[in-house]
Amino acid sequence: MKRSFADLTAAPDLHEHGEGTGPKRSRRPVYEDLLPPCNNACPAGENIQAWLSLAQAGRHREAWETLVADNPMPAVHGRVCYHPCEDGCNRSYVDNPVSIHAVERFLGDEAIRQGWKIPVPSVFSGKRVLVVGGGPSGLSAAYHLTRLGHRVEIYEAGPIAGGMMHFGIPAYRLPRHILEAEIRRIEEMGVVIRLHHKVEDILKEKQAGGFDAVFVAVGAHIGRKTDIPARDAGQILDAVRFLRDVELGNPPQIGRRVAIYGGGNTAMDAARTAKRLGVGEALIIYRRDREHMPAHDFEAEEALSEGVKIHWLRSIKEITGTSVTVEIIRLENGRPVPTGELETLEADALILALGQDTDTAFLQHVPGIKFGDDGTVEVGPDMMTGHKGIFAGGDMVPSERTVTVAVGHGKKGRPVYRRLFARRQV
Ligand SMILES: Cc1cc2nc3c(=O)[nH]c(=O)nc-3n(C[C@H](O)[C@H](O)[C@H](O)COP(=O)(O)OP(=O)(O)OC[C@H]3O[C@@H](n4cnc5c(N)ncnc54)[C@H](O)[C@@H]3O)c2cc1C
Ligand code: SF4
Repeated sequence: MKRSFADLTAAPDLHEHGEGTGPKRSRRPVYEDLLPPCNNACPAGENIQAWLSLAQAGRHREAWETLVADNPMPAVHGRVCYHPCEDGCNRSYVDNPVSIHAVERFLGDEAIRQGWKIPVPSVFSGKRVLVVGGGPSGLSAAYHLTRLGHRVEIYEAGPIAGGMMHFGIPAYRLPRHILEAEIRRIEEMGVVIRLHHKVEDILKEKQAGGFDAVFVAVGAHIGRKTDIPARDAGQILDAVRFLRDVELGNPPQIGRRVAIYGGGNTAMDAARTAKRLGVGEALIIYRRDREHMPAHDFEAEEALSEGVKIHWLRSIKEITGTSVTVEIIRLENGRPVPTGELETLEADALILALGQDTDTAFLQHVPGIKFGDDGTVEVGPDMMTGHKGIFAGGDMVPSERTVTVAVGHGKKGRPVYRRLFARRQV
């Protein structure tokens, strides 16, 4: 096979592949117009093969334009998205998946470097939309609505837009100048962001601002608690508050030894951040084993390589002063079973990283809106709540409903779905 210098990876030996493409087929393929597995897995619904082929041809600007037709923040996603697109890549049957997120990051960075802008329709649709919450879901909704010709204002409770991209994901994984550049580009399209504006009464705000519709994306910021008997315990913090305080430049006093309770990516971020604050020991305590932890394996790997310790198969029973009593757990069919065997370890502070809940109390009085047991807001396939004209998305709606929104119709009249931002496992 002739190799082109522009190939993204080395040409594979097609005689050696396991399954999928190549000459060793035993069945005749039937072609159907379906989503490729990478696109299907992408939470932002990107047309990956389209922008990859443009990038491969060196047409970087067009590749970026195709990419941002779906996802306004490629430099952010190219860094922090867990790239499920690559798990779905057909090329993995041949050698390795295409490094999609690395190309995405390159295009995102190139756009920032070159100052590429998003074209905005010159004709105003006549509709005004209020977006509540300036996290990735709200920003993405504002971006797509603006591209459709609507006027959008974001009301954001915090001092800066970005939501958990700013106050959750640590700066060592997502440099702030990159995040700010991609948010600025959305503002330059005409999206107005009002900071320090917490929405308490959505119907009143909608009426006062003369908005035709509202998209609510307030995320999930309430750190989950657990009942641990604690006597004279030192600092007990929740991970989201801890990361937020560090980001705001007010890191709490956590002493020399810190224990982090939980096995998700947030636990890894909290432990790695504690290490960067200079603690001598950051110890993650998690009740299942590595195979069953919700954190991505690479995040645990990076944490371990930075000196974070992980105590698998342990749950916290009690805290007295700086003594943390933990119980050893064994797994039965993946389920944790307490053994009654106890150990003691020392920690000056305990950070709880047990997941987050959403604060949707301010929507409780709105007629028609329905809630799940966990406080998430129920929405239909069009992301509208039970109240006409009020939509919701992002971490505040159940995961299976978060992502898809129909934006038009495909060749055969089937709806084409775009995704706003998926929930991740915590
Ligand atoms: C520590 C941590 C690390 C993470 N790392 C990753 C990662 O590497 N990759 C990844 O894909 N995902 C990651 N995530 C998950 C990701 O950040 C979230 O899924 C995403 O931010 C959710 O977006 P959202 O817009 O729904 O909510 P948020 O990002 O939470 O934004 C909601 C916004 O609404 C504002 N708000 C809340 N209430 C009101 C109100 N009443 N009025 C006005 N504004 C309000 C908030 O101030 C906030 O700015 C991480 C999350 C955490 C906590
Ligand atoms: S890295 Fe994430 S956002 Fe980017 S193409 Fe892959 S799944 Fe989609």
